[in-house]
Amino acid sequence: MDLLTVHQQCIGCEFMSTTIDTSIQYIKGVGPKLGAVLAKRGVRTVGDLLEWYPRTYEDRRRMREISSLKAGQSVSLVAEIASIQSRPMGGRGRKYHVVVIRDSSGQIPCVYFRIPHKGYFERLNVHDRVRVVGKVIEYRGRLEFHHPEIHHFQEGGAEVQDALIPLYTQTEQMNPTKLRRIIDSALMALDVTDDSQKQGNSSAILKPRGSRNEVSRIYTSSKDMSDRPWEEFLPQWMCRDFDLLDWPRALREIHQPPQESADLFLSFKAPAQRRIIFEEFFWMELALALRRAGVKRDLAPSIEFHSSRVEQLTQELEFQLTQAQWRAFTEIREDLHKDYPMHRLVQGDVGSGKTLVALMAAIQAIDSGAQVSLMVPTEILAEQHYANCRRRLQPLGIKVALLVGQMTASAKREVYERLESGDLDLVIGTQALIQSEVRFKKLGLVIVDEQHRFGVEQRMNLRGKGFSPHFLLMTATPIPRSLAMTVYGDLDISIIDELPAGRKAIATRVTFSSKRNLIWDFVEKQVREGRQAYVVYPLVEESEKIDLMNAQEEFIQLKDRFPQFALGLLHGKMKSIEKDEVMSRFRSGEIQILVSTTVIEVGVDVPNANIMVIEHSERFGLSQLHQLRGRVGRGSYKSYCILVLGHAVSPESRQRVEIMEKNSDGFKIAEEDLALRGPGEFLGTRQSGLAGFKLGNLLRDLSILKNAREAAFKLISMDPHLQKPEHQKVRTQWEKKQLQFIG
Ligand code: ADP
Ligand code: MG
Repeated sequence: MDLLTVHQQCIGCEFMSTTIDTSIQYIKGVGPKLGAVLAKRGVRTVGDLLEWYPRTYEDRRRMREISSLKAGQSVSLVAEIASIQSRPMGGRGRKYHVVVIRDSSGQIPCVYFRIPHKGYFERLNVHDRVRVVGKVIEYRGRLEFHHPEIHHFQEGGAEVQDALIPLYTQTEQMNPTKLRRIIDSALMALDVTDDSQKQGNSSAILKPRGSRNEVSRIYTSSKDMSDRPWEEFLPQWMCRDFDLLDWPRALREIHQPPQESADLFLSFKAPAQRRIIFEEFFWMELALALRRAGVKRDLAPSIEFHSSRVEQLTQELEFQLTQAQWRAFTEIREDLHKDYPMHRLVQGDVGSGKTLVALMAAIQAIDSGAQVSLMVPTEILAEQHYANCRRRLQPLGIKVALLVGQMTASAKREVYERLESGDLDLVIGTQALIQSEVRFKKLGLVIVDEQHRFGVEQRMNLRGKGFSPHFLLMTATPIPRSLAMTVYGDLDISIIDELPAGRKAIATRVTFSSKRNLIWDFVEKQVREGRQAYVVYPLVEESEKIDLMNAQEEFIQLKDRFPQFALGLLHGKMKSIEKDEVMSRFRSGEIQILVSTTVIEVGVDVPNANIMVIEHSERFGLSQLHQLRGRVGRGSYKSYCILVLGHAVSPESRQRVEIMEKNSDGFKIAEEDLALRGPGEFLGTRQSGLAGFKLGNLLRDLSILKNAREAAFKLISMDPHLQKPEHQKVRTQWEKKQLQFIG
C-alpha cells in the first residue's frame, strides 16, 4: 500500500471515527451555513449538539381532539386556524392577540398577552394546518391556551409515525425537523465509530504516521475500552451507588426515546433523563464542593469570644433577644473561633432582627483586635446602619465610620487612613467602596447585609493572600431550602425563624385601581392620626412599551389629593445625596407620605410608618412584595399593606398576588413564588447559573439534586484534587466544562 492510500484512508476514517468532540461540520446535513448558525448558539461539536436536549416530547400515540381537552393538560394537537385577531386590552393602546383553532370536534382560543417574537402572527393564515403545543387553562369557565407554540404542520413529515417526538427550543433559522435529522445523523455516526472500534479492525494499518491525534487514539484503543467515541466518565462507584444509566445510552434515549418508556419520558421520570439531570446538577455541586474544600484550606484569624462587651450590648437593649437570634449568634461565635474562614449565611424574615446578631459578631471580632467591615447594597441602608451602630456601639468604645460615595475626598481619605492604621474598628459602606481602595490593618470579619446576590466570586476576591477574613452574609430574601442548597451550597446557613414578641400581623388586602378613592381616604385617616405611609410604584419613568403608572407623575397627582400633608419622592435615578435627604426627612416624620420606587425595598426601618400601598402589585415577585410589606409593621401600630392591581390583570396574576393576603411567612411565600415562576424568574438572574440547567428543574428534580450534591461532596472528600486514576475521566470532563463556562 502506498502512502497516498494510507493518507486517503486516514481522511476517510476521520469521517468514520466520529467522537463526541468531533466538529459538527463533519456531520451529514450540516454545511457551513448551518454550522455557522449552530456555532452562534454555542454548538460546535457533536457533544454540544447532543446536549441540545429536547425541551419536552410530543405524544403522537393518540391523536387529540379539541373536545377532549381538559384544564391543566399539556398537549400537542393538530388543528386548523379559524381566526386571528388583535383586541384592545385596557387603555393606552395595549392589545392582546387571539388565534382560534378548530378541528372536527370543536374550537379553542390561543391567547397571547404579548407577541412572542417578531412576525409571530404574520406567518399564520386562516385555514392553515398547525400544530399547537401548550397547556390548557380554564378561564371564566372556558378552556384556552395561553401563549402556546404554534408551528405549521407538515403533512407526511418523516417522523409522524413515531410515538414520542422530541421538541427542541425553537430557533429562527432552523426548523425542528432539520434539527432532529442532524441529531439522528450524529447519533448514527457515533454508532459507526463505536462498532468499528468494537471489532478492533484495521488498527494496524491506520495507526502509524503522525496521523491526527483523534484518529490514532481511537484506533489504538481496541484493547483499552477507555477511549470509546463516547463513554461514561462518572466514576463507577457513583453510577452504582446512585443507580445511573450509562451516559451514551442516556444521551441516545433522550433524543430517541424508546417507545415502551414513553410515559416516563413525558413525566421526566425516565432513567435517561435522570442521568442527564443528575449530571447537570453534579457539575454545579462539584464546583461548590471544590470551593468549599478550598475555603477550608485557607487560614483565617481565630477569633475568641470574650463575653463582656457583647453582654453590655444585650443588657442595654430595650428588649430581649429571641431564641433564634441567640442560636444564630452561637453558631457564628463557634465559626469565628475556627482557624479557617467562616462563610455563613443568616437567613431571617424581614424584621427578625438580623442586624443585632451581626453587631454581636462584630463586637466579638473587634474584641479580639480585628477590624470589621459591614457592606450594604444602598447608601440609604448604609446611613441607617451607621446611625444604629453609633447608637449601640459607640457607648461601648467601639470606633465606627461611614464610607459612601457622596462623602468628600478628604473625608474618605481620613477613613482610609484610619482603617490602614488600625484606628477604626468598624466601617460601614456600600460594597463597591469597600472592595476598591480600602486597606485594612487587620480585617477579620466581613458582614454583608441584604445582598443575597453578593456572589461567590466577590467573596473569593476578598480572600486575602496568607489569610482571609470571616464572612457573614445576611438576607431577608428567604429562599426555599431546596434552592438555598444550590445558591448557597458552599455556605453554612443559620435561620432566624422567629419574630420578636409583640409583632402584629400586617393586614393585607388585594384590591383594584378602581377603588383608588377608598384607598386614599384610608391613607388620609391614618396619616391624620400621626402615622406615615409608603406608596410604591414599579418604575421611575414612563416606558413606551409598558403603560405603568410612574412614580413621578403620580407624585404630582397625590400632592393634589393630599394638599394638607408633606409628600416626598424617592427613586433610583435621584442622586444619593437627594435620596438620603428625603429618607431622613421621612424617618424624622417630616415627610408623611413617601412616594417611591422599589429603592426602599431593602432593610429600611421606620417604625412609625404603618401603611404600604403597592401599585401594580402584579408586576412584582411575591418575595419582593413580601420585602416591601416588611417595611411596615415595625412599630406598635396596626399596619396595613394594600396591594393594588392594574387593569387587565390576568386571573393567574391576581391569584398570585392574593397569596400575600393569606401568608405572612416569608419562607412559605418564597416557596409559592418559586413554584409559580420557576427558579430562573425567582432568582431574577441568569448569572447565578441556576437558570442555566438545560433539562434539570430544581423544583421537579429536587431528589436528584440531593443525590448529585451527595455524590459531588463524597467525591471531593475521597479525592480532593481528583488525582486518583479512577477519577481522571470525570476530571477531564470537568475541565472541559469549565472551559465552556469561561469561553
Ligand atoms: P431585619 O432582620 O429585617 O434586618 P432588623 O435587624 O432591622 O431586622 O430589626 C428590625 C427591628 O426590630 C429593629 O428596630 C430592631 O431594633 C428590632 N429588634 C431586633 N431584635 C429584636 C427583639 N429581639 N425584640 C424586639 N425588637 C427587636
Ligand atoms: Mg436588615
